[in-house]
Amino acid sequence: MMLDYNSLLLALGVSATCLAVTLMGSWLVRRAETVLLTATIGLVLVVSGIFVYSVYVNTPEKWLGIASFGLFHAGFATIWGAGKQFLTSRLSISAIAIRALAATIFSVVPMLAGYDGLAFIADNLAIALLLFATARQYWLARAEAPAPILGIAALYTLTAISFVLCAGVLISDGKLVLGAAPNNWAEDLSLAVCIAGMTGIGALSLALHQWRLAARHRLEAITDPLTGLLNRRAIFDQYGTRPMGSTTAVIVFDIDHFKSVNDRFGHAAGDRVLTVFAEQLQASCLAGDTAARLGGEEFALVLKEIMPGRAELTAERIRRAFEAREIDIDGQMLKCTVSIGVAPGRAQMLDFDTMLSAADKALYAAKRGGRNRVELAAYLRAVPAEVARTAS
Ligand code: GH3
Ligand code: MG
Ligand code: MG
Repeated sequence: MMLDYNSLLLALGVSATCLAVTLMGSWLVRRAETVLLTATIGLVLVVSGIFVYSVYVNTPEKWLGIASFGLFHAGFATIWGAGKQFLTSRLSISAIAIRALAATIFSVVPMLAGYDGLAFIADNLAIALLLFATARQYWLARAEAPAPILGIAALYTLTAISFVLCAGVLISDGKLVLGAAPNNWAEDLSLAVCIAGMTGIGALSLALHQWRLAARHRLEAITDPLTGLLNRRAIFDQYGTRPMGSTTAVIVFDIDHFKSVNDRFGHAAGDRVLTVFAEQLQASCLAGDTAARLGGEEFALVLKEIMPGRAELTAERIRRAFEAREIDIDGQMLKCTVSIGVAPGRAQMLDFDTMLSAADKALYAAKRGGRNRVELAAYLRAVPAEVARTAS
């Protein structure tokens, strides 16, 4: 080797420290991302283990070995926990503690018994197991962003394999007592793999983190925060000026006398009515249909693949269900109604904008007609009238 073992160990310690600082910095910017903090803590434990181990390499005292085992296993178990947290959005400290403890006992017992050779075999196998388990978490999460996640899973696997090799060489040497830190080609290789793996995993993790933030911002930008439905911008982005044929229908909804709900029961009660209505709208969506909150107490539903004459029936069903729905406001039962305008698709293609304003006109006809009712768009009548006017 051009570099001696101690220099490589130092290099690993330094690169892991840099990564820990970077992760910590990202966490400080966005405190809600606790997965970054979990990973930072894991790395700090591993780095501490590396420094204790480098002391052990020079003075192989039993308690130093035990301390480094404990720190490594706590660190790798925490890194596994960060992977699990990345996958499930939940941090399980007890699951981390159990793994750290099991791995530590597995390697500390032979160390205490004086079999340091056996202890290092157990140590390497335990670390390999934790790394394989970490790789598995990312493998399971791969759908979110395949390229960086598969890269991370591959690097964890590679690192795990290098620890298996270390154990393998120790097993084939068959020495139960070493009296010093293991020193063989597999150890050197494993250190090199760890340095490369750590750097790669660090870079990919940060890229992944950015990717996740950007995806969340994209989602937030198209979602109405109160109801979770698409917002006005999103539905326009989705349908824009795309022509709609006879199987599509656009329905708009406006809750009746909503201002008085706010005035009588308070704004929070109003919000509750909005979420109840949104849930009902969402429930009447089939695959391909879109429900959106256009703003205030106005909603829209775009139905795809709807048979002629069915859109108004769907609207009527929603109107009736909402009318019957009792909304619990601090023990008081509140009832609301909704007015609905329906623009059914026509054989002649119309764009979304035109359909929406036709539905809007129908909605205002429903309001004028006394509310709590469904009106059909009159654009077919309106268009010939206009044609007739321009023709004459
Ligand atoms: P109409 O039957 O004619 O539709 O009467 P309305 O009172 O429902 O209609 P109007 O458009 O005058 O009132 C809408 C009210 O909706 C006014 C506004 O204060 C309220 N509003 C808009 N957005 C929200 C919201 O997010 N939460 C709550 N609670 N109220 C909202
Ligand atoms: Mg309104
Ligand atoms: Mg209203």
